[in-house]
Amino acid sequence: VTSRVTQPTNSSSLDNIKNIILVSSGKGGVGKSTVASNLAVVLAKDGAKVGLIDADIYGPSVPTMFDLVNAKPGAVETEDGKTKILPIEKYGIKLLSLGFFADPDQPVPWRGPMASNAVKQLFNDTNWGELDYLIVDLPPGTGDIHITITQSFPISGAVVVTTPQQVALADTKKGLAMFKMPGINIPVLGVIENMSYFTPAELPDNKYYIFGNGGGRKLAEYFDVPFLGEIPIIQSIAEAGDSGKPVALNQNPLLDTVFGDIAGKIA
Ligand code: ADP
Repeated sequence: VTSRVTQPTNSSSLDNIKNIILVSSGKGGVGKSTVASNLAVVLAKDGAKVGLIDADIYGPSVPTMFDLVNAKPGAVETEDGKTKILPIEKYGIKLLSLGFFADPDQPVPWRGPMASNAVKQLFNDTNWGELDYLIVDLPPGTGDIHITITQSFPISGAVVVTTPQQVALADTKKGLAMFKMPGINIPVLGVIENMSYFTPAELPDNKYYIFGNGGGRKLAEYFDVPFLGEIPIIQSIAEAGDSGKPVALNQNPLLDTVFGDIAGKIA
């Protein structure tokens, strides 16, 4: 990916960030945060300097997925006398989530402009330092936050996560169409199909396409964007997410290949 500026930005916080990559989905629950977290881990394991912004106002997942539920970011004074948020570092990744600023058990009834301003602060008022990649876990759908982020910051490209069900694919179409809209025009790095199939331990050569087969690939072909790969349903992915250690931290040949392949295609 070559860094490209889609909109002018007046923010010096972002000057030392080479690539800002959005991870999006049409629906919630399809594995967008799982993909964002594990992509960040794979890129960091490869030696890149990586940051991750969890901009999912409706259900921030980074605190759980990185075992940081009660963590609070600190602040730092920069050379020009401004106070900036200091991201929390874990597994070699600089992390910031809207969830760090809210009570984990209370809903945050954001109005659109409030949410947009909060998200802007995660970009502009944070001491990100030098980064090769800043991965952004977007809220599901196509709303205020998407418009704010795509129009305010120099985005390199977007990865779109879907599952194979028709209901998910239909919403993914809208997300893809949004990135291609003239006012937005963000390069789509590709479609990832998650929860594609299941392989029982006792039948290791069988793939069961529980939710349908080939939908993600067809969608990528329809929009003429790369298809980045299928991620199967694997118990350890869910367990890893819940226990706060993204699965890609461990040796897992299949997942290393799937996430490594995705990382290789966007790097
Ligand atoms: P989203 O960000 O799209 O809302 P999440 O990444 O939070 O979705 O995933 C929803 C749930 O599904 C989480 O518990 C996650 O661990 C689990 N999950 C995601 N992908 C897989 C997978 N391939 N296999 C098993 N569980 C998965």
